[in-house]
Amino acid sequence: CGIVGFTGARQAAPILLDGLAKLEYRGYDSAGMAVRDGDGKIEVVKAKGRLSALAEKTNNGQSLAGTCGIGHTRWATHGEPSEDNAHPHCSDDGNVVAVHNGIIENYQELKDKLLRKGYQFYSSTDTEVAVKLIDYYYKKYLGTPVDAINHAMVRIRGSYALAVMFMAYPGEIYVARKDSPMILGIEDGESYLASDVPAILKYTRNVYYIGNMEIGRLEKGRVTFYNLDGDEIEKELTEIEWDA
Ligand code: GLU
Repeated sequence: CGIVGFTGARQAAPILLDGLAKLEYRGYDSAGMAVRDGDGKIEVVKAKGRLSALAEKTNNGQSLAGTCGIGHTRWATHGEPSEDNAHPHCSDDGNVVAVHNGIIENYQELKDKLLRKGYQFYSSTDTEVAVKLIDYYYKKYLGTPVDAINHAMVRIRGSYALAVMFMAYPGEIYVARKDSPMILGIEDGESYLASDVPAILKYTRNVYYIGNMEIGRLEKGRVTFYNLDGDEIEKELTEIEWDA
């Protein structure tokens, strides 16, 4: 339902909580964040219910150290509202971590394929299938995150806005979307992503719009876009003129 992401020099968790609060009006049943300190482990915290439960669990984000992270408020479509079903979802080894808005229509078929490949599932969401499919292609082709996400996008039917962190790429967040909104923003040495403008309006007004079946790579203060072939594409920075 709501997605926020940040990579920069400041602590990510308080920015994620603040951004998610701006998206609360859309409704949600649970929330979660993944934050990473430098090249350390990607830490995940989730809570069922109000965003305040996630804020409490993390001492308003203070106990989740790191300058790169993604956050999500979930409106369940597949699987009941619960902590297990809340996002982020992770690969079995914790090397790929993602949040998702939308619906993966062919998730059962993809899940069956992944089960045959030895994957295990810990939630009943369609999202966990998408994360594990990305992980599957990432390992199968020993390629880059962009290659892995592209392979997964070709297979997935449905709608999605995805934000993904990879263990081997500290300080970076990868995004992809199809028929589900997502914007990226940049400001001095900082990069933001959100499913809707109000989440990041306080921090930046310089945004990029990402097209269907395109990938964005966020580094601190820099965003690069790729098409389905993995070729870099140019985008124009737009200034938002809304009042907060
Ligand atoms: N389909 C996903 C789920 O049920 C994402 C729902 C959402 O957009 O919040 O977990």
